[in-house]
Amino acid sequence: MKVSEFYTQDKPVFSFEFFPPKTPEASEKLFETIKALKTLEPSYVTCTYGAMGSTRTNTFEIIEKIKKDFQLEVASHLTCIAHDKKQMEELLYELKEKEVENIVALRGDAPQDGSEPEKIENGFQYANELVSFIRQHPDFKDYFCLIVAGYPEGHIECSDLTTDLNNLKIKMDAGSDIITTQLFFDNNDFYAFEEKVRALGITQPIIPGLIPVTNGKQIQRFAKMCGSKIPKNLQDKLDEYGDDNDSIEKFGIDFAAKQCQDLLAHGVPGIHFYTLNKEKPITEIYKKAGLK
Ligand SMILES: Cc1cc2nc3c(=O)[nH]c(=O)nc-3n(C[C@H](O)[C@H](O)[C@H](O)COP(=O)(O)OP(=O)(O)OC[C@H]3O[C@@H](n4cnc5c(N)ncnc54)[C@H](O)[C@@H]3O)c2cc1C
Repeated sequence: MKVSEFYTQDKPVFSFEFFPPKTPEASEKLFETIKALKTLEPSYVTCTYGAMGSTRTNTFEIIEKIKKDFQLEVASHLTCIAHDKKQMEELLYELKEKEVENIVALRGDAPQDGSEPEKIENGFQYANELVSFIRQHPDFKDYFCLIVAGYPEGHIECSDLTTDLNNLKIKMDAGSDIITTQLFFDNNDFYAFEEKVRALGITQPIIPGLIPVTNGKQIQRFAKMCGSKIPKNLQDKLDEYGDDNDSIEKFGIDFAAKQCQDLLAHGVPGIHFYTLNKEKPITEIYKKAGLK
């Protein structure tokens, strides 16, 4: 089923994101987490795709297993900068064969080690080119529902939010169905983004992406990587608790639950949770925010 159908219903849609584990033990643990989180009845779940195509096999295997063994609707992330058009076509046929109808279509990032990304001939430069490629392909154009990334505080490489929003408009006009946002901690950033997106005539659902704060150092690293600012009330608590991650997690669950309640009261069509492959914070947020 195409996940865009969920957003036509008159109730909030909850989705969970996982990443592919690196070891068999971590995979086992992930499947236990998914089993536990299934009880929260998410509408669909997604699995990330390693930058530069590094987790291709793992991502597709996980997606296939979640679909078959857990009978959950799935969306596979797919990044395009590391692949040429021929390889991309093969990947898309593979997903279609696995009956995966939903893709989170992304550009991806160059390696973090500072090395130059390999130049790919007949490749892709931006996510909008992947969206166009799919929408122009006779075997894929009607098959896939396409979710793309949006950045409430602007994408880190982009000099200003207006240019970034205009680039988002190109991506939506190319045939994207849904926007899921980068993590953010101040709902006002999301509301301002939503207003600007709508002012550009973009009508597709905009889904806020939320991350539970469970570890001070980790969240500061993520926020820096994504260009998301940490508001003072959160930063003060991170400073106060230091390495006491139990207290940070408790505070983070409360913080995210309040974010959820405010977003839902505002009328968002759903919430996408960056689970970090952990069950407890999500279950606790559900309880605190009264989501079930
Ligand atoms: C919901 C979500 C899921 C993600 N999942 C993954 C994942 O699974 N794997 C992974 O490696 N990364 C993932 N990322 C991170 C993502 O790959 C990076 O943020 C990446 O830097 C940008 O990807 P994008 O698809 O938004 O790129 P794009 O939409 O291509 O934008 C990238 C930059 O280029 C600019 N730009 C876009 N189009 C044009 C154009 N036509 N001309 C000029 N400039 C343009 C934009 O303003 C922006 O600054 C995810 C991000 C989000 C928000």
